[in-house]
Amino acid sequence: MDRNTSTRGSAQATRIARSITNSQLLISAALLAFAVVVFAVQASAFQEPLFFGSLLIVFVLTGVALTVNWNRRSKRWAVLLPILDIFAIVGMREAEPELGAGLFLVLPVIWMARNFRLAGAIGAVTLSTALLWLAGAADSGVFSFDFGTHVLLPMTLVFIATTTYATSRRSQSQRDLLRQQSALVESALVRARDQERILDEVINAVEFGVLAFDRDGAATLRNNAHEHSLREFGAPRSAVIHPTIYRPDGTTVFDEADRPYARALAGEEFENAVFWVGAPGDVRAAYSATARQISRADGEPDGGVVVVRDITTELEAIRARENLAASVSHELRTPLTSIIGFLELAVDSPELTDETRRMLEIAARNSERMLSLVTDLLQTASDKDGTLTLAMAECDIAEIARQSIDSAQIAAGHREITMTAVVDRPAVTVADPLRIRQVIDNLLTNAVKYNRTGGTITVSVEATEGSIRVDVTDTGVGVSADDQAHLFDRFFRAGAARTSAIVGTGLGLNISRDIAKLHGGKLTVRSEVGVGSTFTLLIPATAKDTA
Ligand code: ADP
Repeated sequence: MDRNTSTRGSAQATRIARSITNSQLLISAALLAFAVVVFAVQASAFQEPLFFGSLLIVFVLTGVALTVNWNRRSKRWAVLLPILDIFAIVGMREAEPELGAGLFLVLPVIWMARNFRLAGAIGAVTLSTALLWLAGAADSGVFSFDFGTHVLLPMTLVFIATTTYATSRRSQSQRDLLRQQSALVESALVRARDQERILDEVINAVEFGVLAFDRDGAATLRNNAHEHSLREFGAPRSAVIHPTIYRPDGTTVFDEADRPYARALAGEEFENAVFWVGAPGDVRAAYSATARQISRADGEPDGGVVVVRDITTELEAIRARENLAASVSHELRTPLTSIIGFLELAVDSPELTDETRRMLEIAARNSERMLSLVTDLLQTASDKDGTLTLAMAECDIAEIARQSIDSAQIAAGHREITMTAVVDRPAVTVADPLRIRQVIDNLLTNAVKYNRTGGTITVSVEATEGSIRVDVTDTGVGVSADDQAHLFDRFFRAGAARTSAIVGTGLGLNISRDIAKLHGGKLTVRSEVGVGSTFTLLIPATAKDTA
């Protein structure tokens, strides 16, 4: 038997004992009051042994009820109490019929009907009626019929027994229902507590910080990882978040309202909001915060959760790669420029054979390519802090595209790729012509590099009211949907490019997109694997002067 069952068992025993003693006490209290009244109006009744004896029996029974240790097993013996009460009451009525003590039969009948079910109800009424009738006959040997005692009183008892029995059955089933429901609620509560405990353990085991808040903005949860980060950077015990954090540049302090946590409290959802903790020059860490709002089942907002990931190592790795790229490309540029210069001089030398000249020209072409790759690398490395600047001037994008197509013609010809230009009208705007040329050159180089032999490339320039649009469409390998999401990331090369022999750094599109953005425009892609790609450069018809 587990603890719950035994607790329930002892509670039940107490209930049984209380019910038995209460019922008996009620009868004795009623009869005591009756005895006091009788003593006042007809004290002679007490000289009648049957009357006095019967009264005494009731009080003795009360004593028994109070002393016996009632439990579930002895409960059925308790039925003797109301039965003997019935005998005593009929005895009192018999001793002094005119005092109407028979009415007190109602009390044991109610008791039996309530506590001993149908058998109790029937038994109490039958016993009372039988005793009343027997007493009527025992008086003088001749049955003296009294309508009130022999008919009306039994009928009243039947009515009372029936009503009591029905009522107690109803309340019993209500009690059962309540008990079942409370058992259900109890087990649901146990389950909910278990789940809460598991969730707690999981949340505390993970490496990223988690902090949740309720609809009023009060912090409801913060896990060990977040707590650890707060302590590590000396936040006061009461702090929910780091008191001071820095923007991604590492030096500007975040305004209160712009802090990721404040934005989440204001109902915003975001991903990868980067911030630094720890003053510049001190030990510090970079974090990336993601916020989600939580809604109740009825759609009402119910707070939110912010997850914070330590990205210090990641940022350091990126910085190290950029520094390496910058220094390597810088070191390579000077010797390469010199190689190209000497190769050009050598090609011009008259005493060369045709064969040697052809070989020197190939070497020069490849050195040029290498220089352009190195230039891309260097530019990305120096642009990492956003220093790319534009030299704005009025220019015709259609003309720039035409020149770019002309210079890509040779490379396209080598691979039998047909280039078509749909460039009719001038598309004049204020932009940086060199940078726009750089973007279109990059798109065309890619369209050739990632095309199939014998494929086509279509370049169209369209000037509409508010913007100028350049589309470069090829019939090449295409880019999968997954890869498209990263195409403009630094150093990213799609699966097909990585596994093929096509040379590249994964920097051209990243630089091109930055140039488009600086012009207030954008660079987008639509592509299907095996069918081809369309890169679209969109810039405002009159770009803002950001130079
Ligand atoms: P690179 O060409 O030097 O690798 P880019 O930044 O210009 O770098 O391009 C990044 C990647 O995007 C390429 O490696 C290639 O996988 C993919 N890509 C770019 N242009 C095309 C294109 N026209 N068709 C298919 N894939 C392309």
